[in-house]
Amino acid sequence: MTTTTGRAAGMGQPTATGRFGEFGGRYVPEALVPACAEVEEAFRAAWADPAFVGRYHDLLRDYAGRPTPVTECARLSEELGVRVLLKREDLTHTGSHKINNVIGQGLLTVAMGKRRVIAETGAGQHGVATATAAALLGLSCTVYMGELDMARQELNVFRMRLLGADVVAVRSGSRTLKDAVNEAMRAWVSEVDTTHYCLGSVMGPHPYPWMVRELQRVIGDEAREQCRALLGGTDPDVVVACVGGGSNAAGTFAGFVSGSARLVGVEAAGGSAVGRGVPGVLHGMRSLLLQDETGQIKEAESISAGLDYPGIGPEHAYLAGTGRAEYAAAGDDEVLDALQLLARTEGIIPALEPAHALAWLARSARDGSVPAGSTVLLTMSGRGDKDAEAVMGILGGSAARP
Ligand SMILES: *Cc1c(COP(=O)(O)O)cnc(C)c1O
Repeated sequence: MTTTTGRAAGMGQPTATGRFGEFGGRYVPEALVPACAEVEEAFRAAWADPAFVGRYHDLLRDYAGRPTPVTECARLSEELGVRVLLKREDLTHTGSHKINNVIGQGLLTVAMGKRRVIAETGAGQHGVATATAAALLGLSCTVYMGELDMARQELNVFRMRLLGADVVAVRSGSRTLKDAVNEAMRAWVSEVDTTHYCLGSVMGPHPYPWMVRELQRVIGDEAREQCRALLGGTDPDVVVACVGGGSNAAGTFAGFVSGSARLVGVEAAGGSAVGRGVPGVLHGMRSLLLQDETGQIKEAESISAGLDYPGIGPEHAYLAGTGRAEYAAAGDDEVLDALQLLARTEGIIPALEPAHALAWLARSARDGSVPAGSTVLLTMSGRGDKDAEAVMGILGGSAARP
């Protein structure tokens, strides 16, 4: 249980310059300062406008399938000795929480009088989500993707094209996500009058970390009400979510931060910015980043392409510093075990990303650091279909356990 000192460090607005403590800010080329300011002003107005918020929630209900349920996991709970509740973002249209953000930013694009969105993508999931929202709202869409990622994620490239998006190969640097972000920002500079940059997580320059958290807080707001209905008016003891950039975790934490639940974000062991990162500036923000001795950004390594970002959103860096949230890491082997555990006990195949949160929970329940009998809410950020082939490649026939 967290003490009242944790309560002071809630998730309110960042400072006027977009800071969460020493993190955040707006480190962009001069040409993008007015663009970021325009997005900030437009979102501030939209988020205070009942018509905009109503349209956003209508689309989340009628198109994305919200509210998503909270599922009580009887057999998994029995196995782990803690009561496990899953917030089922895997049941949304497109199969992950990313839809919440892109519907919000798509509507914002329309509200700003723009007709075009650009996005960057690593594993392809945010690109597919953005292309989906663009098709829904009649916006044209260009997605920047590292050439290496395009080869690795052929099916998602095809999906984006089916949805009407242009996919542009980025050939600079390591030809992966961080290069795609750089390229998308460069493209935004030259097209800012017509184009909104739809960023995929709680990162980048102000207002994105705050705006994307607000667009994802529907997860935590729903879950808090659902938990209180299930738990006789109380919050769970522990709230846990996986962290890539940190948007599903931030949206989940936003619903519980003012209470006393223990908040836990789980990164991939090969990309744990809180554990191994140091403060630095990348992609328009100051945050904790994986860097070598000379300050070069290091590649994050993970079995899960969605968790291989070499940094973490600035608000998470801040919450780690204040101690209101804690951050842990999970390794590939325990993640694969956790994925199979949930599949066998509950009939739910999770995406590899939320399997990191499950791996942490399984380990913590077994070693007692989450005490027996605790109630735990875990955000099931996405479904496992997209990863099934990769998991099959690793496990082969060994998944068929007695
Ligand atoms: C993209 C993705 C993530 C990681 O993104 P966050 O911004 O950290 O939430 C996690 N889970 C799933 C299923 C994803 O698609």
